[in-house]
Amino acid sequence: MTAHKILFIVLDGISDRPCPELGGTTPLAAARTPVLDKLAAEGICGIMDTIAPGIRPGSDTAHLALLGYDPYKYYTGRGPLECEGSGIHMEPGMIGFRCNYATVSKEGIVLDRRAGRIHDTAALSKAIQDGVDLSESGVEFTFRSGAGHRAALALKGEGLGHCVSSNDPKKEGVKPFTITAVKKGANHEKTAAVCNEFVKQSTRILFSHPVNRDRVKKGLSPANIVLMRGAGEMGIFEPFGQKYGLSGSVIAAASLITGIGRVVGLEHVPVPGITGSQDSNIAGKIAAAENELETKDFVLVNIKGADESGHDGLAEQKRNFIEKIDAVLEPLLACRDCIIIICGDHSTPCTIKDHSADPVPVIIRGDGVRMDDVVRFDEYSCAKGGLSRITGPALMPIALDLINRAHKFGA
Ligand code: ZN
Ligand code: ZN
Repeated sequence: MTAHKILFIVLDGISDRPCPELGGTTPLAAARTPVLDKLAAEGICGIMDTIAPGIRPGSDTAHLALLGYDPYKYYTGRGPLECEGSGIHMEPGMIGFRCNYATVSKEGIVLDRRAGRIHDTAALSKAIQDGVDLSESGVEFTFRSGAGHRAALALKGEGLGHCVSSNDPKKEGVKPFTITAVKKGANHEKTAAVCNEFVKQSTRILFSHPVNRDRVKKGLSPANIVLMRGAGEMGIFEPFGQKYGLSGSVIAAASLITGIGRVVGLEHVPVPGITGSQDSNIAGKIAAAENELETKDFVLVNIKGADESGHDGLAEQKRNFIEKIDAVLEPLLACRDCIIIICGDHSTPCTIKDHSADPVPVIIRGDGVRMDDVVRFDEYSCAKGGLSRITGPALMPIALDLINRAHKFGA
């Protein structure tokens, strides 16, 4: 029987470098992972440079590359992807930003970049949407709340460019910056002017909003300014269904990843209780993926928590979370009609607390796969596998071939 579906599980930031706290090995190699090991034993393994050797990927550019969309062509900034992830439909040419609600003093000094980690900002975002008017510049906008203090802003209008700076000073105790064009061009200058006008008008609305007055009374930090960054222009993405002839879904907690799924035309499947952190309902993600595969050809699942531990430099926590991931993957052992791909999107070494270009381990398991001798899922074992060292953009073609959907090149 040939597998005819693809389940693609990305374990965000799972791979690492040797950690002193773990006796000089990686969290993945130190973790007890019987399920991942069985999948490795039943599949073909390798290591992978998600974009190319030596390139340190962001999660966004890595996921684009893994899905076969050249990030050098498609990626102009994180903003448009965050906008899609927040539910704003981005049309080609629209400019997107990722935003934060923050707190400034009356004098305009940033006191808290996350506005006391405010949770429910829907009323504030609605007030901004209803109250800010950019029509003088011929620009329409959509502003949406994201998780926690986060939000997204999309601009639509003639002659807008995306090469503009951020107003986020990235630290407290100073004034937000004025947004400027970072590249010559009337279009970029126009966007910068529109952004500054947006900040001016929205700040005025936020300062007098009842939600913020109430927060001040309770001694909480008011969410009285919008900091914006990650400007990018929405491009034209060849729809996933057209590119591969497959229907597909995306399951992820991070709006950046759901946004990437949505821009390429994957359907976003919400799962209750997923947080992108250690406490996420990751079992729910796997159940939702299995459910999606009943009707879809392709499902992308992103599991985030290990990346967070890497950024925090917590090797033991990372190892423990990897063991948690392993436990929820157990139902996959019984999965017979699909090709299962498991990999990282980049390494997030605890020793550097950021992403690195170290290649990530990858398993491809399913009917028709030529099994190799690897019986452990970790950076060292997978390096000895039958896939050898591949690049991220090679993954989808390999998977398509295994489900006999690859087009023949030549006669
Ligand atoms: Zn990532
Ligand atoms: Zn990360």
